[in-house]
Amino acid sequence: MISHSMEKPLASWRGKERYGNEIMECLTVIFRSGGCSYGACRMCSYRHERYHDPSVDALLSHLRAQLNWVMENYPAEEYRLVKIFTSGSFFDPVEVPPAFLADAARAFRGKLLIVETRPEYINEDTLTGFIGQLDDGSWETPLYCAIGLETSNDAIREKCINKGFTFADFKDAAGRTRASGAGVKAYFLFKPLFLTEGEAVADMRTTIADTVPYADLFSMNPCTVQRNTELEFYWKRGAYRPPYLWSVLTLLHAAPVHMTCDPLGGGQKRGPHNCGKCDYELVKGIRDYSLTADRELIAALLETECGCKEEWEFVLAEEKPWCMPLTR
Ligand code: SF4
Ligand SMILES: [Zn+2]
Repeated sequence: MISHSMEKPLASWRGKERYGNEIMECLTVIFRSGGCSYGACRMCSYRHERYHDPSVDALLSHLRAQLNWVMENYPAEEYRLVKIFTSGSFFDPVEVPPAFLADAARAFRGKLLIVETRPEYINEDTLTGFIGQLDDGSWETPLYCAIGLETSNDAIREKCINKGFTFADFKDAAGRTRASGAGVKAYFLFKPLFLTEGEAVADMRTTIADTVPYADLFSMNPCTVQRNTELEFYWKRGAYRPPYLWSVLTLLHAAPVHMTCDPLGGGQKRGPHNCGKCDYELVKGIRDYSLTADRELIAALLETECGCKEEWEFVLAEEKPWCMPLTR
């Protein structure tokens, strides 16, 4: 049996992140937790990452061991911003025992924290208590709740993603977040299952415009085909293609706010991709843009010549949606 003192998070890495007009040192940690209590999204394999030991005490000691490992391996003075993921929701009390929240807040006191959670786990008491322990006055907004809204369209969120909450739920949670003194980060999913490329682009345009009043930070995830997901089932049968990088560039260029975007699996067949020849440069440019917010870079990338651009334009114009029966 591996000793708890040797336990590490699922993943952790150092990097840079844009916040306001600054580029700052960032630590990202993905804690192994009790796992997403919802666990039904069609494109998600993270929900499989969990401890199968049901006791709260065991879970708490696993999480504390991971946190200790993080504190020992990443000197606190080397980063200012921390992004926490759990393959679920940090504020879900079943997934992350509430006692661990206090540990994490103390460990990262004085840092700017971005913490992922579903909207139903956002309540003002939890957030206010958490901020009270985290905040040392260094930041005007010391905590952001990152919510995977994915789209502002309830039908797409339900049918194509099976996310299990509505745009109204997101807006309510954003209100509770802000009332607690925290900020809101919205994650968008570009091109979920069952949408054509054109429909997906249109959905993102609307989603960004709809969400601007309710969030402070924005990040768009072009969909990737993860293993052991329903999305993978369809992809293997030729019924899904990840989005084109051309579409990603178009959306970043037209967005009324700065959206960060890290095209995971970019240029590979399971990730957002073009033809294989132009992908590397475009993926690199998209990552650079996330840090620099330089729209001219995106405009220049959109002007890049490649034979696959015509193919993309054809797909946008000609791809037809799947027909689903309205009745049984
Ligand atoms: S996307 Fe988030 S909410 Fe949905 S199953 Fe995965 S971890 Fe749970
Ligand atoms: Zn190309």
